[in-house]
Amino acid sequence: MAADSIEQPEDWTTPGAHAVAPGVHRIPLPLPLAGLSTVNAYLLEGPDGLVLIDPGWAGPANEQAVVSALAGLGHRLDEVRTCLATHHHWDHYTQAFAWREPLGAELFIGKDERYSIESFGGTSRFPKHPALLARCGAEELAKRVREDDMPEHEARTPYGPPDGWLEDGDRIPLGRGELEVVATPGHTRGHVVYVHTDAGLLFAGDHVLPTITPSLGFEIAPEATPLRSFISSLKLLLRRPDTVLLPAHGPVRSSTHERVREILDHHRERLDEVNDLLAAGATNAYEVARRLPWTRHRRQLDHLQLDHQLSAVMEIEAHLDVLALLGRVTVDETHAARRYRAA
Ligand SMILES: [Zn+2]
Repeated sequence: MAADSIEQPEDWTTPGAHAVAPGVHRIPLPLPLAGLSTVNAYLLEGPDGLVLIDPGWAGPANEQAVVSALAGLGHRLDEVRTCLATHHHWDHYTQAFAWREPLGAELFIGKDERYSIESFGGTSRFPKHPALLARCGAEELAKRVREDDMPEHEARTPYGPPDGWLEDGDRIPLGRGELEVVATPGHTRGHVVYVHTDAGLLFAGDHVLPTITPSLGFEIAPEATPLRSFISSLKLLLRRPDTVLLPAHGPVRSSTHERVREILDHHRERLDEVNDLLAAGATNAYEVARRLPWTRHRRQLDHLQLDHQLSAVMEIEAHLDVLALLGRVTVDETHAARRYRAA
């Protein structure tokens, strides 16, 4: 199937239900975030009701957008029987979580999301990051993250464990065909994508995004080596047949493989850049991050908002980890600090 034949509005954020294949619709939903305006939910027909993938950030505006989109197709909200999340981030998981009681809709997510989901509940958004940041040489940033309370809108958002945990290779029956669960750790520890083999569609969540690259390890309980996992999860998709890319943020693209290759190239360049900065005298992730421009506006690290600074330093640490794995840098590690040298 060619995505060129899938008619989509010019602006991918246009509200409504946009058909991407027989029985499959894309539903853009509004987000309460500054940087990221919209998340794509996907509607499918299950054997005994509707299935929604990643139905947004819990709230009245989000629910209303889903209700309107469903109404446009002649459906009601209480026909939703199953919600599937690609990962535990708020914009993918919380609305589905909030619907479990009133709708009786069941919610499923990858099993390795349990680390972050079960660690949720304190007042800090990132309880484990101060120690991780300090080890990267970012003591001052660590201190600010430790003092940063959870914002009001997040603290009030419904959150908790799902109805079931999915394993790699699980199958979810649809009215026509089925979805295969494929574990793609990296963006988060238990991220999964859903493959509709018969229709040649990939519901990619944040694993493969068409215009940006996802953050790595931006979660309550991150894994130790997120970039290694992310790169393996990208290569895994190249070993499978190519599909239409249905991302959580951004427009539909006709080839997943094409975008995966672009992202792998981007990280290859990033590894070279990080390596060059070590050769020029930087010794830890914080020093490297301070010498790189960030975002498409090429901002300095300390001009970013706090959680983006955290994410940036952790991303560089993940690249240093891969360089060490490749033998391109040496690591000098104590309990408190991790220093790197170009080999
Ligand atoms: Zn995410």
